[in-house]
Amino acid sequence: MCNSSGGPSGSVPGAYAALNRPDAGARGWPPAPEPLPVPVMDNHTHLDFPADAGVVPAAQALDAAAAVGVRGAVQVGTDLESSRRTVELVEQEPRLLGAVAIHPNDAPDLAVAGTLEAALAEIEQLARHPRVRAVGETGLDYFRTGPEGLERQQYSFRRHIDIAKRTGTALQIHDRDAHQDVVRILREEGAPEKVVFHCFSGDAELARTCNDSGWYMSFAGTVTFRNAAYLREALAVADPSLMLVETDAPFLTPHPWRGRPNASYLVPATVRSMAAELDRDLAALCTDLAANTERVYGTW
Ligand SMILES: [Zn+2]
Ligand SMILES: [Zn+2]
Repeated sequence: MCNSSGGPSGSVPGAYAALNRPDAGARGWPPAPEPLPVPVMDNHTHLDFPADAGVVPAAQALDAAAAVGVRGAVQVGTDLESSRRTVELVEQEPRLLGAVAIHPNDAPDLAVAGTLEAALAEIEQLARHPRVRAVGETGLDYFRTGPEGLERQQYSFRRHIDIAKRTGTALQIHDRDAHQDVVRILREEGAPEKVVFHCFSGDAELARTCNDSGWYMSFAGTVTFRNAAYLREALAVADPSLMLVETDAPFLTPHPWRGRPNASYLVPATVRSMAAELDRDLAALCTDLAANTERVYGTW
């Protein structure tokens, strides 16, 4: 059964409409999609990153998400400041769990400054918070970091893998143009029990590797992009018990709103696109996504 209908049906949620600049036009916050029949969670979002003139308070962002069947989210830190903020947010908001890390694009600078070890020690401490359930986003980014930073980036990734194992949390991986080295380092270090490729960007071959290794693939708005046939081939191969969905908001807004700001209330657009691509019943896919999410992070 195919459920590809369900485009924009609602208006822009109030807290977002208030942020839309009067001249935003077709560049502003998108309207709310039709609600999902079974609630899911946004596996990776940055509620503290400003987009289009501001930050929507977490409670309002999660209200807008809940109204369309997105009942929770994983708030992700990328440096010490946003990881500390992540802990504050998960303490305030029961619909949030947290992930903390030093982003691969930031790690080399900290290493050069001599502050990486102290930062990693604090990340480990933050990762022990009961509502922080993942270490991430960590990994490798060969798109933004040049050859001079790769060794330091790989070192930081190895340290984050170790922190995830010692704190018993999931590992959320940022992998940009670095599939082979990500897989190699995971194997060399020994992967934590739960590994998530956030914003999965691999092809069918990487999806098969993830299937074989029991690693989760979190699909973002990129899977809806017209020029991303390789992601849809990966989706078709991915084991349904290893699929997750995320926004990476405020980035990577799904089709047909690509280029506008993103938020958790837009997850239904990505899930519908996945159901259509997989020719799966929408409610059954949502049920799988929610169960997979709680298997990785525990209950909210
Ligand atoms: Zn990322
Ligand atoms: Zn991210």
